[in-house]
Amino acid sequence: MSDVQSVQPTSTPVVSPQLIAAATGVVAVMLLLAYLVAFDQGALSQGGMYLHELMHDGRHLLGVPCH
Ligand SMILES: [Zn+2]
Repeated sequence: MSDVQSVQPTSTPVVSPQLIAAATGVVAVMLLLAYLVAFDQGALSQGGMYLHELMHDGRHLLGVPCH
């Protein structure tokens, strides 16, 4: 008989559910911004010419084909 006892490793989650939720939210906002700047072409950003021009300038700044 051996006296060696098996030790179960205690594990704590490295990534908490709150961190996953926060990261998912940040990624969703970043994807929305990328869509607005790169692909919107005025479909969603019609809330005024300021927003449209801001997205248009961002498109030119990032080198996304525009016109
Ligand atoms: Zn343009």
